[in-house]
Amino acid sequence: MSRRRAGRSGGGPDETPRAPGAPFVDVAFNLPIEPLTYRAHPEQPSPVGSRVVAPLGRRSLSGLVVRETDAAPPSVELKTISRVVEGEPLFSSDYLALADWVRRMYLCSLGEALSAMVPGARREVDLPSFATDETPPAVADLALSDEQSVALESIFGGGRRLVYLYGITGSGKTEVFLQAAERTIAEGRSVIYLVPEIALTHQLLESVRDRFARVGGAAVLHSRLTPSQRLTEWRRIGRGEVRLVIGARSAVFAPVRSLGLVVLDEEHDGSYKSGSAPRYHARQVAMKRVADAGARMVMGSATPSVEAWHLMAEGTLHRVDLTRRLAGGAVPTLEIVDLRLDEGPLSGRLLEALRRTREEGRQSILFLNRRGFAHYFTCRTCGYEMTCRHCSVGLTLHKERNLMVCHYCGYRTRPTTQCPDCGSYDVGYAGFGTERIDEELRTRFPDWRIARVDTDAVRRRGALEQLVGDFRSGKIDVLLGTQMVAKGLNFPGVKLVGIVLADTGLHLPDFRAAERTFSLIVQVAGRAGRFHPDGHVIIQSYATRNPAIARAQLLQMDEFYHDELAARRELGFPPFSRLVRLVLRGRSGTDVGRAIADLGRLVAGRVEGIAEVLGPSECPISVMSGSVRHQLIIRTRSFARAHGALAAAIAAFRVPSGCHLEVDVDPVSLL
Ligand code: ADP
Ligand code: ZN
Ligand code: ZN
Repeated sequence: MSRRRAGRSGGGPDETPRAPGAPFVDVAFNLPIEPLTYRAHPEQPSPVGSRVVAPLGRRSLSGLVVRETDAAPPSVELKTISRVVEGEPLFSSDYLALADWVRRMYLCSLGEALSAMVPGARREVDLPSFATDETPPAVADLALSDEQSVALESIFGGGRRLVYLYGITGSGKTEVFLQAAERTIAEGRSVIYLVPEIALTHQLLESVRDRFARVGGAAVLHSRLTPSQRLTEWRRIGRGEVRLVIGARSAVFAPVRSLGLVVLDEEHDGSYKSGSAPRYHARQVAMKRVADAGARMVMGSATPSVEAWHLMAEGTLHRVDLTRRLAGGAVPTLEIVDLRLDEGPLSGRLLEALRRTREEGRQSILFLNRRGFAHYFTCRTCGYEMTCRHCSVGLTLHKERNLMVCHYCGYRTRPTTQCPDCGSYDVGYAGFGTERIDEELRTRFPDWRIARVDTDAVRRRGALEQLVGDFRSGKIDVLLGTQMVAKGLNFPGVKLVGIVLADTGLHLPDFRAAERTFSLIVQVAGRAGRFHPDGHVIIQSYATRNPAIARAQLLQMDEFYHDELAARRELGFPPFSRLVRLVLRGRSGTDVGRAIADLGRLVAGRVEGIAEVLGPSECPISVMSGSVRHQLIIRTRSFARAHGALAAAIAAFRVPSGCHLEVDVDPVSLL
């Protein structure tokens, strides 16, 4: 860690009384700069790990103390900490080693690393805690099936520390995770249990509440907590009052004492990768923590990421298969419908299946990964396509709100019946979203109970939980939704799952498009037939022969991974290489273009013979929120050396003012 000076200050010679701790501290800010040295506050102690407010330029900023020292840097006048916000340390000195690893790995500053890891500043005080006071009756663990027993033993078996439970939804992975957690806690060690979306995992929270009450309960960390709730949970974890932490991505940084096990459920899920600096992957951080702590790790999914599949084949991850559904369910039948042969977005086949399902008193889920009503506004006279003023993407019609909306930056404008370019009235909308399907269903089936679950329909806090509860208790016939319905929901009454359009992600310029499409179909299909042997899945598509879709329909898992890995090997994409993506953005296209060319030359010089530099080129989404975006993709088979060279190149590069550099190590999205 290097330090810099906090600039000149008007402080004059040291007249203040000595602070109770060391006289100087280094403070890390959530900025792309290294920590700065300050004089400690004269009265309020600020040990390592405390949160302080300090002057920086003309501003006052909140930061974290990362070092105390008795020696001031020679001949500088230092500014003084203005205020200590959080005197009780948020982390120990040991924890800084992890922060420093994040800094080096993801090529950010120490302050940016810590800001992603540690709870933010407190704003309000209230704490409905998750720990139960009364001791509930002990809950007996389920007697494990043979497959589950093998899985549990392999987690604790000699030497092996990274275990992968590969099994369809409903094959009992959760029970194995929970028993592994219990055993770890009984050993006196702590557990971090990661799930992609905590708000949806009611079931998990329920079972955890009862089973772990006797060992202090569980701490829950997720994005819907207020800062003060998050801080409260953080402190309970740090003091060792709870041994089990459940949470989404950032919970991988929980300051547990004596880490014994990390569980990573739904390993394939893209939400484990952070979309802002530092762009860390929870799986990667977990592997690092587990290695440092001599802990164990178990992940699981019905659709492993291609990378994980490769690591299993290599033996780096120990694979255990769970092949049977344990609650009376069976693998559903999957059927494919060619949408080109039908008019409108709901095929005759799907409508008929919906009707039959309702007649039988059962429920249906319809899945479509696109919000809004329609996706393209085009002029048939001049070919005009309406795109966002600030982004190079099309606007989506939201009919209920009577708006055209940009899903990237939120820009909105009124819909029009006339071409803004040539004035023609021969215009039209194409490409359907959930709102359109909602309308279509309500028109066709006016007396059905239909609920739509997407971020437009479920804005109010608690509304989602309410809908999910109503569906579970049978008050809703058809649940229609986006991604939100695909994750972690289990409904006993569901017989039919309709994938309204399987192709939504297929044509994106991203080498993971096939993987995502395949995985999403198999995941959504897994929502059918969890508890009954008669689950039915209808996959609608315009590209029925596309291998990702065809293989998903046939549940040809081995074949899909085999072909996908062969293609990646051929093209030199991960897991057969590693990528780092550098995106430079700014208002001025000329400045960005010039800067990315400079950066490209600098990087190419440093990584010569170690890595390839692809680009510079425009990003597929070349303008976002008014910023022009250009990129470089660095591809290498010698990651450690390339990473080192790249770190040096980035350090040597001066980002021009008005431009911003995004660094993404092992990017998951290339848009
Ligand atoms: P997964 O996590 O693999 O999707 P779950 O753990 O949710 O699967 O299990 C699906 C269902 O099977 C749940 O209702 C669970 O209670 C039940 N189950 C799990 N293990 C057993 C077992 N050993 N015996 C009986 N039922 C089980
Ligand atoms: Zn026109
Ligand atoms: Zn926009």
